[in-house]
Amino acid sequence: MARYYCTGCNYIFDESEGDSREGYPPMPFDELPDEFTCPDCGVRYKEDFEAVPDE
Ligand SMILES: [Zn+2]
Repeated sequence: MARYYCTGCNYIFDESEGDSREGYPPMPFDELPDEFTCPDCGVRYKEDFEAVPDE
């Protein structure tokens, strides 16, 4: 499972956890609905998220 971060505010979506605050179960980032936006700053889905590189 991968993690993706918002380039605007560094919010992280973790595929293995989802986002319970926003009502998203664990799921692949690519399967999030089109209306998904960053819960912290509201940027658009996908365009403004980048994969978190493995460390
Ligand atoms: Zn954000």
